[in-house]
Amino acid sequence: MSNSGTAEVLIPRSLCSIEDFDNLIIDVEDLCAVSISWDNGYVSELKPLNKKVKKPKNILFPRFVETHSHFDKSFTWADFPNFKSNYGGALSVNLEEHKTRTTDKVLKRVEKSLKLAIKNGYRAIRSHIDTYESQPINIWIELFKLKKKFSSELTLQFVALAPMEFWDTSNGEELAKMFSSHGGILGGVMVPPFNKKETSKFLSKMLLLASKYKLEIDLHIDESIIEPGAGLKILLKTIESLKINTVPITCSHLSSLISLSPNEVLNLGKKIAEKNIKVIALPITNFWLLNRDNKNTSLKRPVAPIKQLQHSHVDVSLGSDNVQDPWYPFGNFDPFYMLSSAIPMLQLNPWERITISTIFLAPSRLLKLKWDGLIKKGCPADFVILEAQSWADVFSCSLKRKVFIKGDLHS
Ligand SMILES: [Zn+2]
Repeated sequence: MSNSGTAEVLIPRSLCSIEDFDNLIIDVEDLCAVSISWDNGYVSELKPLNKKVKKPKNILFPRFVETHSHFDKSFTWADFPNFKSNYGGALSVNLEEHKTRTTDKVLKRVEKSLKLAIKNGYRAIRSHIDTYESQPINIWIELFKLKKKFSSELTLQFVALAPMEFWDTSNGEELAKMFSSHGGILGGVMVPPFNKKETSKFLSKMLLLASKYKLEIDLHIDESIIEPGAGLKILLKTIESLKINTVPITCSHLSSLISLSPNEVLNLGKKIAEKNIKVIALPITNFWLLNRDNKNTSLKRPVAPIKQLQHSHVDVSLGSDNVQDPWYPFGNFDPFYMLSSAIPMLQLNPWERITISTIFLAPSRLLKLKWDGLIKKGCPADFVILEAQSWADVFSCSLKRKVFIKGDLHS
């Protein structure tokens, strides 16, 4: 059968759920040697490799999950470059691009992004889609058709990234209603400087709308270097005053938290964990866009304090964010590009369980996927197999990979 196979591979130990754990050979980088078989699209056998067998020449990962992207603007850099490379420049070029935007152009960008992402080894992606009053609601019908078209290869989630006040309009209500039957997440931006009273008012409306239609919220929040944690503090206060605890909330970015004292991060972290708010750290765009002051010699780069938040039991995922658009000129929907750039600069050790969680397990939980990403008997044969024997090989430029979707080699 074409969707069956067998391989001798290395798997990060914290991704390998195996019955015969005692006989597992684990190397110094926490990679364990196993023999894996799959049948009819599912893993049928997972066994430790015998000590006498040579170290396998391949590393196996579950297919990846992208927690945060922007398919609607990907590959627009050539027509809409932002040579200042800062946040303000990106926003104004982004708004220029909106003037020329058509449903057709957006669909082409989404389809191109999806094909690349599947080829490079993703199994699920959450993408934000810029949403504004003058945009025809029909675009969503077409986007949901694309979601269905690719559903056998990839799980797709859309977030409507709108100005906060949009969710207090009849168009906002109409879209939320549509999302309640088709799926879809309410999005917004809470980046200082902002009017705290107004922001809190619109956030309340958004939370009530999400609660009414049983939807989730994903916010671009505190993507800044000023007013550390200002958006998060408003969010926590608003949730408390509304006494709403049924709306699942994701905070994307939270970069300015890095400027708070360790104690403040710990205390805010505890509150985030208590409310079961998920966090996505987006180091690549944060490092590229923020704190670009020519007089600044500190090279201080804001990014969510991942390890400190994890210490407070917050579920933190990594994400890539923009690809070749005014916000970020590079990238190509390749998980290994993101990891090679982000892991060293974030000082995350790939051989530690807590790092593996930010790449595979937390993202699977965030997107509420059926499979948590652990390799075990009975899990889907959805793999990326690399010609590699160490983490140095994984983060090298000469990567050879094979992507398996439900047991079949994707080509
Ligand atoms: Zn974003």
